[in-house]
Amino acid sequence: MSDQKSTESTLRIGLVLPDVMGTYGDGGNALILRQRARMRGIDAEIVNITLDDAVPETLDVYTLGGAEDFAQRLATRHLTRYPGLQRAAEAGRPVLAICAAIQVLGHWYETSAGERVEGISMLDVTTSPQDSRSIGELVTAPTLDGLTAPLSGFENHRGGTTLGPAAKPFGRVRHGVGNGVGDGTEGAVQGSVIGTYMHGPALARNPELADYLLTRALGVDELAPLDLPEVDRLRKERLAAGRR
Ligand code: GLN
Repeated sequence: MSDQKSTESTLRIGLVLPDVMGTYGDGGNALILRQRARMRGIDAEIVNITLDDAVPETLDVYTLGGAEDFAQRLATRHLTRYPGLQRAAEAGRPVLAICAAIQVLGHWYETSAGERVEGISMLDVTTSPQDSRSIGELVTAPTLDGLTAPLSGFENHRGGTTLGPAAKPFGRVRHGVGNGVGDGTEGAVQGSVIGTYMHGPALARNPELADYLLTRALGVDELAPLDLPEVDRLRKERLAAGRR
């Protein structure tokens, strides 16, 4: 873990296992959280938690990225051995889990080779391979209270995820595949954990979601708005690509 100086008022963003769950650039989500906090004058830092580190349970917000099947297996083993993320979620700390991370956080997942791997059961979901890989633009309507704008991402996964009763979908698919089990759902939400198949990184494409996580991490009702025309432009382009 990086040894950074921080004060109690510093927002601490946990980037969980970027060494094995960093394949798809989802580490960008931690950068976006830090930047959007700093732009409001809030001190923020990223804490990299690698395979060499125990997982701390008292950071303010956690993000995990996607990975290939083997890397995903190493991550699962580590998070089972050091259950700091499970404790953080039990304490209501926000967690954003992308793609392979939804699968790792579920009860079990099957790899493309058909092997079943026990997950860490933070999400009431299970994952099995679909017949073909789902790759492309993904657009959904959010289902979470507090989110109103369509969500945009890029999906790239073979796993299809089935939600159990304790998990609610994160969005309803408008374009793309999403969870891939024929029910039109995308992602999973349970307590303070949000799982989604959206790469992009998701928080670069969906600033409303970034601020949703920040408000929860900071324990505030709202944040000063940011006027970032380049982010609006990116969103417009990506949402248009999702309509083609
Ligand atoms: N290996 C997993 C799958 O193909 C996750 C891939 C990813 O994280 N993009 O379903």
